[in-house]
This record gives sequence, structure tokens and C-alpha cells, in this order.
Amino acid sequence: MPDSWRTKLIHPGVGVPPGFRSLAVPTYRGSTTLFENTAQVHDGWRQDGIPYSYGLYGTPTTLELAARVGELEGAAHTVVVPGGQAALALVYLAFAAAGDHVLVPESVYGPSRELADDLLRRLGVETEYYDPLAGAGIAALLRDATRLVWCESPGSVTMEVQDVPAIAAAAHARGAVVAVDNTYAAGVLFDAFGHGADVAVQALTKYVGGHSDLLLGSVSVQDGRHHEAIGRTHQLLGLHASPDDCSLALRGLQTLGVRLARLETSTLAVARWLAGRPEIESVLHPALPSCPGHEVWARDFAGSASVFSVVVADGIPPERVLAFVDGLRLFGIGYSWGGVTSLAMPHFDIEREARRYGPRLVRFNIGLEDPDDLIADLADALPQLSGAAPGSAP
Ligand SMILES: *Cc1c(COP(=O)(O)O)cnc(C)c1O
Repeated sequence: MPDSWRTKLIHPGVGVPPGFRSLAVPTYRGSTTLFENTAQVHDGWRQDGIPYSYGLYGTPTTLELAARVGELEGAAHTVVVPGGQAALALVYLAFAAAGDHVLVPESVYGPSRELADDLLRRLGVETEYYDPLAGAGIAALLRDATRLVWCESPGSVTMEVQDVPAIAAAAHARGAVVAVDNTYAAGVLFDAFGHGADVAVQALTKYVGGHSDLLLGSVSVQDGRHHEAIGRTHQLLGLHASPDDCSLALRGLQTLGVRLARLETSTLAVARWLAGRPEIESVLHPALPSCPGHEVWARDFAGSASVFSVVVADGIPPERVLAFVDGLRLFGIGYSWGGVTSLAMPHFDIEREARRYGPRLVRFNIGLEDPDDLIADLADALPQLSGAAPGSAP
């Protein structure tokens, strides 16, 4: 080895002993990955044969996360991308092209709607929104040009639980690909593939990450042709996920089971308490009969998670709703969910043809605080809704 210190910076002559066996998955960073010799040189997204050709297609850390998410979902292939929104974009762009028609539930995650109405529209893809409770009735909306049918169950903010098997059967009869945003179920509380999905997407940002400190997404498929479309589009778009974030998500996965169990219990306690309050007209939590699609949740889901919304009583002015949210002490005001901290967010600009709530919706994420403390905090702030001084309600 040359003995210039400058060369040693790049090609050190020392090393550590092999054989370190940690329980943690190591974080492999890398853009370049080295080939053994020129005969092995190739460039492509596929991991079969020579598994590594370029960091974009995965390092052992990102591939480990993808494989573990896919294992939990019962998928044949999973790719990890920089966020949930990137996962949605990847699916749209892998399956829809100019002239195609896409069906999206009107309860879809807001930025998904923006993507469809802006970028996809410019690319010549027509998006039509359907009532998330359409079930088999979606057949009336399917066209020869319908290439992709999205489901998101329960829907964002308005929480409608969708009859995915009925929608998938109708879509498949017309040759459309069915993609489910399975973020609420963390890929485990709802078996997307078992209920007819071709593609399952998650914002790993939420429950898999679990600590509000990363953004990641996943796209899983069963069929080789769908894998081909996703893998190729992933390569073209360069949707590489950071190995550091993947390492955090791998840690999050280890505690997903205990977190989900605790979050379910605490969330139900808070949701049921709110359901008994006169200031609240209804609670949109999939496990409560007041939630649209509750029967489908009971049929298809293995549990419930930590997000739900409330509709405040009719006639309460929007500024009172804001004062209520501002009056909470343990609930942060912020987007995203699935972490350890309780959150509250008013949603006044929700467009739903089928169910109009007006400026009366507040969405909650319940965290790992003691649910009794959360209920006490809500009890203190609820009088804001009726205009009474905090703590003076009957
Ligand atoms: C948060 C969320 C996304 C987007 O995830 P990001 O990682 O924040 O981009 C997609 N779908 C659903 C249902 C979500 O709640």
C-alpha cells in the first residue's frame, strides 16, 4: 500500500475484526457499490443474480426493511420510498398513462388528490372521485379506460371504512389494478392482499416509524408484472430511501405490536368518552357503530388504531372549535400521526359529496400518554365549545 497519508484517508491499511453480532440491523450507506470484477458489472433495479449494482436500488438496510414490511403484509415484493406521498406517486405513475382513467375515493389523503388534480391531470390522466362507501356499486363508474382503482380504508379524516373485496371484484372484472393505502392498518390490521388488493401502500412515517422522526413509504405487490411496473418506475424516478431512516424504521418495527395494542386500548377509551359528551354529535372511529362502514371494519379488520375524528354538535361556531383545540394542553397541533404523542387538528375544508360535515370536524391521534390524563385534558377544554369558561361545564 502507498504510504501517503492522503491515500490512507481513502484506502486505510487497518481494519476491525469481523464477527460482530449485534441484534440491530447495521446501517449500510452507499451510492456506489463495488463489483467483484468487470464481468459482474450491470445496472438495473432487480436484486436477483447480483443483488447490488447501485445504492439507488437498495442497500442491505433498505432491502431488509422492504423485506420485513413485505413479510408482514404477505407481499411477494416490496420497495421502500422516501415517504408515503412518494409511494402514492410511484403507484399512480407506474400504472396510469395519458388517456387512462383512475378512480379515487373522495375520502383519500388530501395530497393524493392534489397529485391527481395537478400533476396527473397535466400528464393526461383523468381522475374521478367516488363515494368511499360505493362498494360493488363502483361497477357503474368503471370504464374500459379505467386502469387503476384506489382504496384508502378508513379514509383520511372522515374515516369511511371501504368494502375492499367488493370494489376489487368489480375492478378486476374490468381489468383494473386495485391499490390500497393501508397506512391506518400498519399493514397488519387489514390484510390488503387477502381482501383483493394488487398493490398495498403504507406511509411508514406513521406506525412503522412510530416516533414522528422519519418519513418513509412502502409499495408492495404480489404479481410479477406489477413488480416490473413498480421496480422500473422506481428506478426512473430515483425514489431512493435513506438507509438511516430505514434503520430507524427497522427499530420501530420491533415495537409495532406493543405500540398498536396500547394505542388501540387508549384510543377506544378516549373515543368512547367523547361519544358520551353532549358537545360531540358523533365520533368517527371504525370500531364504533357511528362510523360509516363500521360493519365492514368488524368483518375485515383485526383491530383499530390511534386516529379518529369527532363531529362537534351542529350550531357550534368554527371559532369555538378552534378555541377548544387551542385549549388542549397534552394534545399537540400538527399533521401526521402514529407517533407516541397525542395530536388534535381541526379540518374545516373537507370536500365530501356524500357526507357534508362543514367546519365541525376535529381529528385526533392518540399517543402513549395515560388515557385518563388525556380525558381530563379534553374535559377541561370541552367547555370552550359551548362558550363556557374552562372547567365550568356541568
Ligand atoms: C400520511 C399519509 C400519507 C403520506 O405519508 P408521508 O410519509 O407523510 O408522505 C399517505 N397516506 C396516508 C393515508 C397518510 O395518512
